Amino acid sequence: MLNLVLFGPPGAGKGTQSEKLIARFHLVHLSTGDILRAEVANQTTLGLEAKKLMDQGLLVPDEVVIGMIESKLDAHPHSQGFIFDGFPRTQAQAKALDDLLHRKTTSITRMLALEVGEEELIARLLNRGKESGRADDQDESVIRKRINEYTTKTEPVRAYYAAQGKYTGINGIGSIDAIFDSLCQAIDQSVASK
Ligand code: AMP
Repeated sequence: MLNLVLFGPPGAGKGTQSEKLIARFHLVHLSTGDILRAEVANQTTLGLEAKKLMDQGLLVPDEVVIGMIESKLDAHPHSQGFIFDGFPRTQAQAKALDDLLHRKTTSITRMLALEVGEEELIARLLNRGKESGRADDQDESVIRKRINEYTTKTEPVRAYYAAQGKYTGINGIGSIDAIFDSLCQAIDQSVASK
């Protein structure tokens, strides 16, 4: 199986690149942000609770997103692999993901981290807010809060995978196709070295 963690701050291009990667490598896309937004749209109990945190740019509790990922993994028993987008966002989530995959006798192949500077991220997100109507992309103070959550809680996940020798940094500035090529090269290399 090919199991990728696509990592990076909000606005780094994870969603855009995930779409291209799933088409190329036939992976199942698991985006916790997308799953949470669907829960909000359906006004489920989970969605209503999560929305309060999402609107403030704060992370939802680990056990909530870990449970969501577990049921999505169970829902795709015959997948060739998964692309985790926006998950794991804490070390506890990374550990839980390792345990879940271990139970399925598989593991993370590689973490690919898109690197983009903060001012570029803010400009991209404000632009996306205008186009997509996503509420959390329209308010600069919420965007800064999300970047702060990323820096304090999510950034350590990089070290978690680096310690396993599974981390690759990718320059996230440039054309969508050039960044996609860099991602594909990194994936091909990690598959070849297995
Ligand atoms: P995203 O679409 O990945 O930027 O996620 C949007 C929002 O959903 C985040 O600001 C968090 O409030 C929440 N969220 C998404 N994924 C996670 C996660 N893995 N852990 C905690 N909160 C998450």
